[in-house]
Amino acid sequence: MKYMSLVSKVQMSPNGPQFSQFVQGYWRMVEWGMSPQQRLTFLKQHIELGISTVDHAHVYGAPPCETLFGEALKLEPSVRDSIEIVTKCGIVPVPSKPGNPQVSHYNSSRQHILDSVDLSLSRMGIEHIDVLLIHRPDWLMNADEVVETFDALKASGKVSHFGVSNFTPPQLALLQSRMPELLVTNQVEINPFNMGVLDDGSLDMLQQARVKPMAWSILAGGRLFNEDSEQAARIRHTLQEIADEVGAQNIEQVAYAWVLKLPCEPVALLGSGKIERVKQAVESAKITLTHEQWYRVWVASKGHGVA
Ligand code: NAP
Repeated sequence: MKYMSLVSKVQMSPNGPQFSQFVQGYWRMVEWGMSPQQRLTFLKQHIELGISTVDHAHVYGAPPCETLFGEALKLEPSVRDSIEIVTKCGIVPVPSKPGNPQVSHYNSSRQHILDSVDLSLSRMGIEHIDVLLIHRPDWLMNADEVVETFDALKASGKVSHFGVSNFTPPQLALLQSRMPELLVTNQVEINPFNMGVLDDGSLDMLQQARVKPMAWSILAGGRLFNEDSEQAARIRHTLQEIADEVGAQNIEQVAYAWVLKLPCEPVALLGSGKIERVKQAVESAKITLTHEQWYRVWVASKGHGVA
């Protein structure tokens, strides 16, 4: 199987970076329970498949996934040159403890972004981040301040490109209004359980600007397999029916094909640390759903037909 030829390169925005069409997510890395050598092996295996883009966040994992990733990179530093590293900032977790009234919150102030980038760089032991995303919309975000901070990070060589995650169209438009260059992505949840971005204009806005979304939790974080609800049963039944029609190996391949059919051309985030599942995801690139099959999943999700 020539996986490399299945994973295309995607121009994320007209003057932005190129990502692999499948992007390896590292949110769940702590659960994988791998040694540094096993993490390096996994990274090299997915690079071998053509998956050169990796997704992190400052807030992922305890211990931080960025640190675990950095330990692997240090074993073979030249691997850094074959990957594009995306990471995110802006979530401040505060563990709840008796007697402590403080809460987790968002922070997109200049100082917080700068500190977060420095920490991400040192955890991963790298010189620059390819793409930095603001992880969640912050109701206290000052767009001018954020863009001035982006400019400073670019000038210092610490970050090459900028984007957002989980932003609504007006939130994205606000930040974009202060920037001469396009934000290179909006990383959003897209799966048959959560089709909000189909309805709120997020994907239309990106298609209009020729900016590609990064689709997270395409398998709904595993709910696709284990949720006990009528909606989940309908979705599973329909995905299996279509898998049989198109000769897919399993329902997850149909879920990936369903997301990749979107005309805004998302790149697909993968969440598994099992290389066999990563290979199966990549093989879904061979599957093309018809319009009717795509809508059958939509109908299964909604529980009613189109008007
Ligand atoms: P996902 O692909 O929806 O879910 C992955 C989970 O599904 C893993 O626990 C995996 O377990 C399980 N799974 C996969 N195949 C399975 C099967 N056949 N049977 C049972 N379980 C199965 O992706 P995700 O991990 O939620 O998200 C992917 C990436 O998106 C993350 O790593 C992160 O980079 C990014 N993300 C971003 C945001 C954001 O706010 N921007 C939010 C969430 C995630 P195994 O590991 O055992 O295969």
